[in-house]
Amino acid sequence: MRRVLAAVMTAPLAPVEMREFAEPELEPGAALLRTVYSEVCGTDVHLWHGRLSGVPYPIIPGHVSVGGLAKVRGELTGVDGARLAEGDLLVFYDVHRTCGRCYACTVARTPTRCPSRRVYGITDAASDGLFGGWSEAIYLEPGVVAARLPEGVTPEDYIGGGCGLVTAVHILERAALKLGDTVLVQGTGAVGLSAIALARISGASTIIAIGAPDDRLALARRMGADITLDLRTTSAEERLTDVLGHTRGRGVDVVLEAAGSAAAAEEGLELVRDGGTYVIAGHYTDVGPSTVSFHRHVNRKHLDIRGCWGSEAGHFLRALRVLERHAATIPFRDIGARVYALADVNQALADAEAMRLPKALVRP
Ligand SMILES: [Zn+2]
Ligand SMILES: [Zn+2]
Repeated sequence: MRRVLAAVMTAPLAPVEMREFAEPELEPGAALLRTVYSEVCGTDVHLWHGRLSGVPYPIIPGHVSVGGLAKVRGELTGVDGARLAEGDLLVFYDVHRTCGRCYACTVARTPTRCPSRRVYGITDAASDGLFGGWSEAIYLEPGVVAARLPEGVTPEDYIGGGCGLVTAVHILERAALKLGDTVLVQGTGAVGLSAIALARISGASTIIAIGAPDDRLALARRMGADITLDLRTTSAEERLTDVLGHTRGRGVDVVLEAAGSAAAAEEGLELVRDGGTYVIAGHYTDVGPSTVSFHRHVNRKHLDIRGCWGSEAGHFLRALRVLERHAATIPFRDIGARVYALADVNQALADAEAMRLPKALVRP
């Protein structure tokens, strides 16, 4: 039996270890991918810090990946209806086992809150199999939503956008942006950078981004931001003055939060206009409470605050269409700033943790 090398996160804060696994037997409808790229994103840093609940360590991290279809048992059809064949470059939606029958799935229509839902690289244990991309091979269990990488989209384009792009598609859907809206994006990590690009192609007028460091702000401008404000060299008062100055004293129509700090949420409430929309998407882990005056910020402001949790298969497919149309002109690929060998994944994690790059890539 062939052996597959994978990087295993055994416990929070423990060094990631290389381990060998047996190549899995495929059940009917299952497939095996030879990993081309996976990513080391902010979620992986959270996983390594033990900040996500319900994670069955040891795990093989890497929730969004691209790979070549090495083996398939039976027939495999893409989410767009196309027949998939061995040798195809495939991408897949990392969430699986959403039940489609529970209260969340059917009545509330919030499948991202389905209790049966599992996520590759996050909530699947290494003992369950090759459910993560920090591995030479990935097991696609029957029912996983997959698609062929669209024509003209390179693996680098796809993995550069990666989970941040799919999340940003959901954020923009929640924002219900109108043509000509002014938009503020808080955070210039992988999610914020993609949200900037999507706001731009959705018809935003002025897009302001708040973030750091310099190289991310430069990339934010290339993704479509008109104005970037450096979190480290400006005060909240200066940013408020700046944002009001660009919006005739009103504040922006829409704020997209992809920063994940209590202070950012408080600041966003000040920067959004009366009757505006505020989408909270960066609080993926619990960073503690923010101080809100429900009178001033919500009731009197007539504010629409919306949460945004995870993504659905439709967001994954829409992300592919965005890449098909725009990857040649929007530099999604540059979000994946550096490629690491599987054996160097601890360095990739350290670099991601220190925010030395928006996203590290792993090439097993
Ligand atoms: Zn369900
Ligand atoms: Zn991710």
